[in-house]
Amino acid sequence: RELTVDLGERSYPIYIGEGLLREAASYFEKCGLSKRSPLLIVTDEHVGPRYLPALEATLRKAGYQTVGITLPSGEGSKSLAVFESVITKALEAGLDRHSAVVALGGGVVGDLAGYVAAAYMRGIRFVQIPTTILAHDSSVGGKVAVNHPLAKNIIGAFHQPEMVLYDLETLQTLPARQVSAGLAEVVKHGLIWDASFVDWIDGNAGKLRSLDPEALGYALHKGCSVKAAVVSQDERENDVRAILNLGHTIGHALEAVAGYGEMLHGEAISIGMVGAARIGVELGAPQEVYEVTKRVLAKCGLPVRLPSHFDTDAVMDAMMHDKKFKEGRMVYIVPTAIGQVEIDKNMSADRVRRMVEQLKEEAE
Ligand code: NAD
Ligand code: ZN
Repeated sequence: RELTVDLGERSYPIYIGEGLLREAASYFEKCGLSKRSPLLIVTDEHVGPRYLPALEATLRKAGYQTVGITLPSGEGSKSLAVFESVITKALEAGLDRHSAVVALGGGVVGDLAGYVAAAYMRGIRFVQIPTTILAHDSSVGGKVAVNHPLAKNIIGAFHQPEMVLYDLETLQTLPARQVSAGLAEVVKHGLIWDASFVDWIDGNAGKLRSLDPEALGYALHKGCSVKAAVVSQDERENDVRAILNLGHTIGHALEAVAGYGEMLHGEAISIGMVGAARIGVELGAPQEVYEVTKRVLAKCGLPVRLPSHFDTDAVMDAMMHDKKFKEGRMVYIVPTAIGQVEIDKNMSADRVRRMVEQLKEEAE
């Protein structure tokens, strides 16, 4: 499967299929990457041992020069310290203006490697080879970043890749919890854009969780299409791109309160999407918005209620830190129907607080 992210002269293709890693060289050639300048492949300790040797072998066989760097897995690698170590590697390997950085991994590797590509020599080319389900989201759209100890994703850039090469075979080794977490963003793409896709997930969640290649290919193609469509309309998040934040306002706060890695991003936004659906129904959306949202997320193996030990004040504080309520008001993405959301620029903190309380009372 193939689709295009339409951004004028920064447009790029997304290839989705089984075994693409083995054919990587032909895709690299197709997108015109130079064989005279070295490629830096950034990966992590879980992905590298499994997939880096084969990727380097095919690329080298076709005449590419490659250098690999394998980082510790986890959010900790999205730091300025690790950023600097990757730049050091790039310099030692002699990367020049015609080189490319290749991200082989999940969203952590993609965000970090992308930021290296955005900054090195004021910007060199960049290829995304996502290996998680979540990365169908993070690899499309060009947002790249590292974290600061005081704030997530705060040091970053917009830097679009040359292409996204999504080999479904790599997903087979993903731990079950990461599969479910990634599906949260797939469901999100349905909820904001496409009711029939939500319906399809409702009927195929089991296949997705068991990594059925046919179902996965379809869902990731759909998910990437929605992301691409939204980003094409608003590359730099001036307006419509904000809808991609469905479930994220609470989600980011929950991640921060739980401690990163304790609650996965997808788990946090799953709870956040249930909360947003509740608010949507309160504000007039049909009851099914709430019921379907909750059912589909649960079928994907995701949490749909907030564990009762979460302190509501702590969650609200984290949210204010993240998004800054102005006079008790904030921007919030609210579902109006399945497949449809609106951007409420005047959401009251009180309503959000009530919703957080209700999320703890959700029935299992
Ligand atoms: P991740 O990159 O940490 O991957 C999750 C875990 O799975 C890691 O332990 C990793 O080593 C392991 N893993 C990855 N691929 C594997 C495979 N094929 N087989 C076995 N194990 C594998 O996390 P993620 O969930 O992919 O991404 C989360 C990051 O993405 C966050 O930092 C978040 O901020 C970022 N993000 C960015 C955007 C964006 O637009 N740039 C959007 C959403 C999320
Ligand atoms: Zn997200």
